[in-house]
Amino acid sequence: MKTTRRKFVKNVAGAAAVVGAVGLTNCAPKEESAKEEVALLPKQPKGPAKEKYDAIVVGAGLSGLQAAILLEEAGMDVLVLEGRKRLGGRVYTLENIPGKPEAAGEWIGANYARMINMVDKMGLKLFTPEQNNNNRPWMYHINGEFIKREDWASHPMNPQEGEFRDLLPSQFLSRISNHDNPLKNQPLDAWLTPEFQKYDIPHDEYLRKKGLNEETIRLMNVTIHSGGMHRTSALNELRRYHVNEFNSKMHFPDGKSYKMIEGGNSQLPARMAESLNNEVLLDKTVVAFRKKNNVTEISCADGTAYSADHVICSIPISVLKDVVFEPRIEGIAADAIDQIGYGLSIQAHFQVMEPFWEKDGLAPNMWSDGELERVAVRAKRSSDQLDALVVFINGPESLKFRLMTDEQVFNYCQIKLAELRPSMKGVLKPLLIQSCERDIHGAGDWVYWQPGQVTKFGNHMRPRHGNIHFCGEHTAIMERGMEGAFESGERAALEIIMEA
Ligand SMILES: Cc1cc2nc3c(=O)[nH]c(=O)nc-3n(C[C@H](O)[C@H](O)[C@H](O)COP(=O)(O)OP(=O)(O)OC[C@H]3O[C@@H](n4cnc5c(N)ncnc54)[C@H](O)[C@@H]3O)c2cc1C
Repeated sequence: MKTTRRKFVKNVAGAAAVVGAVGLTNCAPKEESAKEEVALLPKQPKGPAKEKYDAIVVGAGLSGLQAAILLEEAGMDVLVLEGRKRLGGRVYTLENIPGKPEAAGEWIGANYARMINMVDKMGLKLFTPEQNNNNRPWMYHINGEFIKREDWASHPMNPQEGEFRDLLPSQFLSRISNHDNPLKNQPLDAWLTPEFQKYDIPHDEYLRKKGLNEETIRLMNVTIHSGGMHRTSALNELRRYHVNEFNSKMHFPDGKSYKMIEGGNSQLPARMAESLNNEVLLDKTVVAFRKKNNVTEISCADGTAYSADHVICSIPISVLKDVVFEPRIEGIAADAIDQIGYGLSIQAHFQVMEPFWEKDGLAPNMWSDGELERVAVRAKRSSDQLDALVVFINGPESLKFRLMTDEQVFNYCQIKLAELRPSMKGVLKPLLIQSCERDIHGAGDWVYWQPGQVTKFGNHMRPRHGNIHFCGEHTAIMERGMEGAFESGERAALEIIMEA
């Protein structure tokens, strides 16, 4: 391996410098991309696999691709193996749905220093959509009653008093959880320190101790992404809103806090893969890592095997349960693999054949404490497109859909929507079911910590296993989401490069 540590450190330091400066400097890409929209599938491999690579990265999501680029910049011969037939993992623009919505990683915060840097480096451009799926009117459907957004503050069903009376039910979880957040003004890694372990308790218990009433907790449970408030660590939620608050204080030069990538966020992993010397190999589900002497042999589901001196594994942690490690992973790390869960959600996408809201005069979008939770008419990106609609169900209500085929999910949603709003009967054409949780490579939306798990596992997610290093948003310390993925890929690559 040609170690060019100086070059590597320069690149990482560049990212770090942006971290400090973001919000003050112009983070937007400097030049318009002249390239055509890049295909999501990379070119065919240039030649037969080599006997051994300096490093193999498993997973072509943002964390894996970031790690691969940094290793390559440090002079290593790197191969990326991806289980799916597409790049990007949890960054996935739904090209075939009107409006091309993002299925997962959507909003790029102004503080996403590494990601913004990569967007720029790859010649892509950020933009703030004029419309997003919140731009059409919303209403609430609570305890069986339709309630206009503007009527909520004075509505008898509003369980809040005083300063929170104006909060909408969809804001309860984040805003009330973040009120008096003990992590406020702490560094972003404070959640992993012993001082805050006392908050590693069920989130509903934490809120009851603060005097919250049961109806508020029930409505918060609609928004929770995990198996329920009782199964979520309060520390998980406190960290989440602490990071969000940090992020929302940052602004792009045009004053916006969040952006997306022109042409769809999937353009970024596509360009990152394209920039690598070796083609990313798709459809390579890794089933085993076996250490032989000082080399790791990686076996794939198609019977092929690849070897490397160093490995970075970005597979979501709960998927690792099904992967063989020789030697075995033992102790706390093995318990973490067995026990850590991911946020759950399912999206049912439909085409809207008739504007049903014009028939019943109600708002097109709906947030509900019923079974279907959120119904949003997606904004069109051009006037010749029909409207698309997404039913987005997360947390405990999404569990029952594990028992249904895609067709059953469509039917179920159509029946329940027509019961709720007769104007929706017969106007929805099924398009696509999307759920990271239904996907063998996905596990779920993002890591969530159950009560006690931050204390137990929080500092045991990152240690290497022999020459296998781990990355992925679940291992991030400071950031979450897409920037957390970048942070983790950088850390894992740095571990390898600094020892070389
Ligand atoms: C609905 C939703 C909305 C979101 N919204 C936002 C948002 O607005 N902003 C934000 O910042 N973040 C958001 N996120 C989170 C963000 O998308 C993720 O945190 C980030 O993309 C994770 O990147 P990663 O590299 O860690 O994991 P992944 O993208 O999951 O990458 C892991 C890769 O490993 C591959 N893989 C898995 N198993 C194997 C195997 N056995 N062999 C080979 N390959 C394998 C997978 O196919 C995948 O490509 C959202 C996520 C979801 C689901």
